[in-house]
Amino acid sequence: MSHPDARRDELRDNLGRVRHRIAEACRAAGRPADELTLIAITKFFPATDAVLLAEAGLTELGESRDQEASAKLAQFKALTAIPVHWHFVGRLQTNKARSVASYADLVHSLDRPGLVAPLASGAARAGRRLPVLVQLSLDADPDRGGSAADELLRLADQVAGRAELRLAGVMAIAPLAADPDPAFELLARTAERLRAAHPAATIVSAGMSGDLESAVRHGATHLRIGTALLGRRATNVG
Ligand SMILES: *Cc1c(COP(=O)(O)O)cnc(C)c1O
Repeated sequence: MSHPDARRDELRDNLGRVRHRIAEACRAAGRPADELTLIAITKFFPATDAVLLAEAGLTELGESRDQEASAKLAQFKALTAIPVHWHFVGRLQTNKARSVASYADLVHSLDRPGLVAPLASGAARAGRRLPVLVQLSLDADPDRGGSAADELLRLADQVAGRAELRLAGVMAIAPLAADPDPAFELLARTAERLRAAHPAATIVSAGMSGDLESAVRHGATHLRIGTALLGRRATNVG
C-alpha cells in the first residue's frame, strides 16, 4: 500500500492524462469534449481510491460485480459525503439484478430478457426508476456478454415497456485483440437504429483504456476507464 498522498498524486496525474487523451480524441473527431462522460471503473481497487478520484472531481464511478460494488459503496459513503453516480458495467447475474437495481444509477449491461423483470422489481422495491443500457455483443464470446443486434432491439422494446425502467441507450465492449474500429462502427449503426425507435435512448457507452480514441471517433458518449486511471488490476477477470 503506497502512502495516501503518493496515491492521490498518482491518481490526479492519471486523470489529467486521460482527460488529455479524451480532449485530443474529440479534437481529432471534431466533437466537443463536453459530450463525453468519463466513468472511472474502480473494480479491484479500494474505496479509498474511489474517494481520491471523487476528491479530484470525478463524479462517475463504475463497478462490475455486485458483491464488490455494494461493499465499496457503503465504504465510500462512510468516508465522504461527495455525491457521485455509480455505474454497473459488469455481467449481470439474474439473482443479483434486484440488488444492483437498488444502488446503481445506470446499469450498462442488460443483455437478455430474463433480466428485465428482476431489474424492474428491484427498482420498484427501491422506489426508483432505473436507467438502463442494452448491451450489444461485438464478438461471439458469451463470457463477455451482450446480445446480437436484432435481439437487442427487441430487448429494448421490452425495457421501454416497463415503467420502473428507463431505456437510456446502448453499451458494448470491443472484441479482444482485434481492431476496435469496425466493431464500434457496428455499434454506431445499432445505436442509430435504437434511437430511431426510442429517441430518448441517446447514451453510447463504449471505450476502455486501450480503445477510447476509436470509441470517440464512433460516437461514444460514455467512456469506461479502469487501467489508465487506476493502474493494472491484480487479475483481469470481470
Ligand atoms: C473493467 C472494465 C472496464 C475498464 O477496462 P480498462 O481496460 O481497465 O479501462 C470497462 N468496461 C467494463 C465492462 C469492464 O468490466
